Amino acid sequence: MIEVNKLGKSFGDLVVFRDIDLHIRSGEIVVLVGPSGSGKSTLLRCLNGLEVPDEGSIRVGDATWNASMDASAKKEAVRHIRTLTGMVFQSFNLFPHMTALENVIMAPTIVKKRSKAQAVETGESLLAKVGLLNKKNEYPSRLSGGQQQRVAIARALAMQPQIMLFDEPTSALDPELTGEVLSVMKQLATEGMTMIVVTHEMKFAREVANRIIFMSDGKIQEEGSPDQFFVQPQTERARKFLRQLA
Ligand code: ADP
Ligand code: MG
Repeated sequence: MIEVNKLGKSFGDLVVFRDIDLHIRSGEIVVLVGPSGSGKSTLLRCLNGLEVPDEGSIRVGDATWNASMDASAKKEAVRHIRTLTGMVFQSFNLFPHMTALENVIMAPTIVKKRSKAQAVETGESLLAKVGLLNKKNEYPSRLSGGQQQRVAIARALAMQPQIMLFDEPTSALDPELTGEVLSVMKQLATEGMTMIVVTHEMKFAREVANRIIFMSDGKIQEEGSPDQFFVQPQTERARKFLRQLA
């Protein structure tokens, strides 16, 4: 579903990562962990076309981007990749002047040129799926953080992505609200959605991930099943990271 080869990204003199290889199968749930500043967000943003890598290639479904394409081919590739990936951010990023339902139907009507009636029907079923159909006419300011994040998930799903990227989706939430967001994510996982999740929720990672990828110092330091990673981390860096979480 996703194939990343030799991906590199710098900001000026700062090399965020280099030589990243990543292959993700359809239906796989990958949890990406690593110290703050290790490039997790930048990697997700590259996979969604929000940042432009300097080196390497990215294939998402049938869309391919690589660093040696000309500018217009790159632009088209980014546009294509964006339609295939849904992204959920730490800070929800809902449009404040739109209701929950309006947030969910906006992109399908504008980008996918769905009719209003069709978009509303799909949007309502997605709000029902995240348990918020009864809040469809509320504005984000009238919703709790957990509810806003569930609307954000419904909004991402409305574009029918082939893969969902989650960047610390519960980090901005009060502890009592994280469970409702994680349970929506678990449900998506059981339905076969391909997902990459950056999270500090290690219980979620152990239960839901097929694979843990540990990034640090601009590299993928190790990857393995949750049991391998949490029980027998291979590198001292990973052991140190896990000690700090405990
Ligand atoms: P993580 O998500 O793992 O905490 P990030 O991907 O956010 O890490 O950041 C990796 C590094 O890149 C950090 O040193 C960060 O300060 C830097 N960085 C991220 N975005 C930018 C940007 N737009 N401009 C300059 N530096 C950035
Ligand atoms: Mg981050």
